[in-house]
Amino acid sequence: MHGMMMTRPLSIIEILRYAAGAHPGAEVVSARVEGDVHRETYAEAYARAGQLAHGLKGLGIGRGDRVATLAWNGYRHFELYYGVSGMGAVCHTINPRLSAEQMLYIIGHAEDKVLCIDLTFVPIVEALADQLPKDMTLVALCDRAHLPESKLDLVAYEDLLEGQPTEYDWPDLPEDDAAALCYTSGTTGNPKGALYSHRSTVLHALSICVGLSKSLTEGGRVLPVVPLFHVNAWGLPYAAPLAGASLVMPGPRLDGPSLWELMEAEGVTSAWGVPTVWLGLRAEIEKRGRNPGAFAQVVVGGSAAPRSMIEGFERSGVEVIHAWGMTEMSPVGTHGLLSAPMKDLPFERQMELKSKQGRRVFGVELKIVNEAGNRLPEDGKAAGELFVRGNTVISGYFANDAATGAAMDADGWFGTGDVASIDADGFLVIQDRTKDLIKSGGEWISSIDLENIAAAHGKVASCAVIAVPHPKWDERPVLVVVPKNGGDPPSLQELHGMMLEHVAKWQLPDDMILVDELPLTATGKVSKRTLRERFKAHELP
Ligand code: ADP
Repeated sequence: MHGMMMTRPLSIIEILRYAAGAHPGAEVVSARVEGDVHRETYAEAYARAGQLAHGLKGLGIGRGDRVATLAWNGYRHFELYYGVSGMGAVCHTINPRLSAEQMLYIIGHAEDKVLCIDLTFVPIVEALADQLPKDMTLVALCDRAHLPESKLDLVAYEDLLEGQPTEYDWPDLPEDDAAALCYTSGTTGNPKGALYSHRSTVLHALSICVGLSKSLTEGGRVLPVVPLFHVNAWGLPYAAPLAGASLVMPGPRLDGPSLWELMEAEGVTSAWGVPTVWLGLRAEIEKRGRNPGAFAQVVVGGSAAPRSMIEGFERSGVEVIHAWGMTEMSPVGTHGLLSAPMKDLPFERQMELKSKQGRRVFGVELKIVNEAGNRLPEDGKAAGELFVRGNTVISGYFANDAATGAAMDADGWFGTGDVASIDADGFLVIQDRTKDLIKSGGEWISSIDLENIAAAHGKVASCAVIAVPHPKWDERPVLVVVPKNGGDPPSLQELHGMMLEHVAKWQLPDDMILVDELPLTATGKVSKRTLRERFKAHELP
């Protein structure tokens, strides 16, 4: 028997239309590339998204066309999210840290018709100019007065909006229509496209609003350090307006002092980003002796948050939510919000739980399997490849059958490429990415476990554990360390002592290499691939 309720398609523009009416006090605050701070309410953003849709229509953009962005976190990027998807086109966010070759590949693969560029990134596009599609429209995200001298034929974003009506007759799109496109950063092979739908995007926003309601609440002020150019800034541009929280966009300045000042000035209650960003903010907090005034919660994900970082924030009164996800999942898959009884556990036990990657969000199922594809028990001990299924998970890669075939199992689950265990309470523990695991004498060593321990040493600013080829054991772990304040490093023996409390002797790193800084990937995570390449001939003692 069918239920007798209306079926209205879930739609992205409906989020902003709703926020414009329901949350008049909430705003988008942007530290602009131009240097000043800009403010607009959700109602103003909605009106400008309408003007933008008219402007894009005037450029010949229609349903299904791809409109690309190369931009920081700011209000114009936010308006593009809504204007483009709302009119039925697809907002393709490009990561400006990709190589020129990768950028050209994805622009060609996506068949982008328009490219919207923040002023900072104009030189990147100038360098690619000869190889861009000839009929591509280039929009500079500024007004006419700020248009740069350039060999590019640039249209000013504000000119595109100027004089256009603020009302737009948003089409009633099927909810499965494509709305946004994001490519993985392609650490192996060419980047692969995750093509999000209106339905998946709205459901993802709703599911993170439920679990992360301390951040996503009316009156909250959320700072996405996670970029709008990668995986929809973890869904915040959709979830914050839905919940009535303001968005504080940091623009290009993501160093500790700039973030601290913006958070203090704008009363930021919650900030979201990868662990490497929080190292800078933590250093600034230590220097100033206090947190930015209203700072209450930090969401950390994208790579494993070291326990020492989690404890540092928590001891200063900032709640840490450790989250796990990936581009292919919109991206949030799990997060570590503790249940009410868990909040009564002793501090140490709470920190143990928070170091895990958390429990699944509504709408995402998890399973771990062995090499034969058989499901493993969720007992906190068995570890295997993690597969996921749900409304916010890709069903395949955009126009890439080979990658799709390699990623999906026979039952339609998506293989994450992560090795994990799940405990009886449903907490996920990511042991490693398959490609980062260290294979020693036929046994696996988790680089994340060793890093977590070393990061807690007072003389370690940051660290990474990588595999170095070994004639007898295949691979052995080596610890790469950035000493704190460039000062004297800890000895390997000291670190071994700490590690032996948690891991077996044969898992200890054979050597320690000191470096001034760790190389980062296009998404701001430590690039172990670069480190492995750099130290592949490192002689072990
Ligand atoms: P990129 O390849 O650009 O890093 P993603 O952002 O999609 O792309 O990365 C997803 C991967 O990041 C996951 O498969 C996992 O390996 C890692 N990851 C994400 N969050 C965490 C976390 N909290 N702990 C450990 N690893 C994580």
